[in-house]
Amino acid sequence: MRRRKYNRLTKVIVSIPLGLVLCVFSTALLLTYLKSWSWVSSGPTLNPDSFEATYLEPIAPELVAVRHHSPSTGNGSFALTGINLGADMVSYCYGVSLWDEGYTPWDPTVDAEPTSVNIMRYRFGWPMRMLHYDDISTGSSIADPIVFAYHQRANAIAGIHRGLDRPSWLPGFIPLYRVPIAVNWFTLVINVLTWSALCYALMSCLSWLRAWIQRRRIKGGLCASCKYPVGDFERCPECGTEIRIA
Ligand SMILES: [Zn+2]
Repeated sequence: MRRRKYNRLTKVIVSIPLGLVLCVFSTALLLTYLKSWSWVSSGPTLNPDSFEATYLEPIAPELVAVRHHSPSTGNGSFALTGINLGADMVSYCYGVSLWDEGYTPWDPTVDAEPTSVNIMRYRFGWPMRMLHYDDISTGSSIADPIVFAYHQRANAIAGIHRGLDRPSWLPGFIPLYRVPIAVNWFTLVINVLTWSALCYALMSCLSWLRAWIQRRRIKGGLCASCKYPVGDFERCPECGTEIRIA
């Protein structure tokens, strides 16, 4: 009984760092696997009132829509909605939404301020999103100096939400667009605990399976570890394992 208790404690102690490793590994995999363009454009529209206005509020038109987007297959034709794949995108639409009819890109020769700004927030983590980077778009080319200046201002306000530039040493087959550094610590803890619980459950299943196999062997008159027929011996003559019902 003491041994069993000790085993349980060992499993808990081992499963937490293992859960942390799996949490980090799965997020890294999502980041390097999902292309920034493999997202469906039609997600459910969420109530903008239920969202806090983001950092862009002082320099953007009014927030009109918040949309939730799910990842899709590479060419965007097959939406994987309803499945928690550990990644999604939330778009905050200021002014005229990019996905609305009547949308025209900002023309800086007509309007000094942008008519439409979108924050596309790419979020990662399973089961909850714990890491994100923001991509700010005005729908206009930054070749225009006015548009470029606006983007610089917006990116400066975004700070860590914007993430880091893609490292130049990254091999071309990894489609990572930006490196997210904005962390939600609360969901990170939940994710690590979830992965740890999965590790614990898996370890429990394995030790249960092992105990079941051993019990079956002992009942059949075999050594629990090497399957040698032990008869009335107290110790296996082949490998020296003590014969006892676990
Ligand atoms: Zn044996």
